[in-house]
Amino acid sequence: MSADGGEARDDAADAPAIAAEGLRKRYVDGSRRIDAVADVTLTVPRGQLWVLRGPSGSGKTTLLGMLGGMLVPSRGSVALMGDDVTHLRDHHRTEVRRHRVGFVFQELSLVSRMSVRENVLLPLVPLGGATKAHERRAEALLERFGIGDRADSPVESLSGGQRQRAALARGLVLDPPLVLLDEPTAHLDTDNALEVVALLAELRDDGRTVIAATHDPRLADDARVDRVIRMRDGRVEEA
Ligand code: ADP
Ligand code: MG
Repeated sequence: MSADGGEARDDAADAPAIAAEGLRKRYVDGSRRIDAVADVTLTVPRGQLWVLRGPSGSGKTTLLGMLGGMLVPSRGSVALMGDDVTHLRDHHRTEVRRHRVGFVFQELSLVSRMSVRENVLLPLVPLGGATKAHERRAEALLERFGIGDRADSPVESLSGGQRQRAALARGLVLDPPLVLLDEPTAHLDTDNALEVVALLAELRDDGRTVIAATHDPRLADDARVDRVIRMRDGRVEEA
């Protein structure tokens, strides 16, 4: 709230990138119940690079999915730039998410036998196709990420590092203010891993909010990371 109290309290322009309250995700697997995320409350300000760090199985991917509005929590809520996405119907949540969140999955989900350019433009398909402006943006992103000369190549011809950067370009094609990445440096050699870390810091320097789930110290220990959230057994251990 402003000092004079005269302005709207929930001005979306002042809202944090993410406000998550009491998040829980329980999976039921036969007779077993797994609290993948137990009780997480987090506020992520805009324009920072954060890392979710923890051992395998600690709940990083599940939490990242809920923070990005991809995965519906069992309990709790998530607001993206001031708008609660938890209780929206699926198609509304998808709509909000599409324009606010770029998501780069661990498995990248690139489509074989399509070109790098076609992959980058895929998020436009449900919106009725790419405009010239989108095509220029895709081109510019590929140039910026050092794979402009590979735009017409089939995506499976790229190296691991190039594939990661193509997936990142796809995540950015709608120019989202928030970018979430799951294990973005996994399986990359050190040169490529450090290049990805540098790109994430650049995106943050552009004013975006960037959150990466990782167990890779090459990313988590980098000095450019603003904050590391440690997870264990579905809970935030320390921040
Ligand atoms: P991390 O990304 O840190 O490795 P995950 O979020 O993938 O952790 O998983 C957290 C816990 O939830 C693990 O015990 C995992 O086996 C379990 N889990 C994840 N997804 C599912 C699912 N779809 N069904 C059942 N259990 C799941
Ligand atoms: Mg994971």
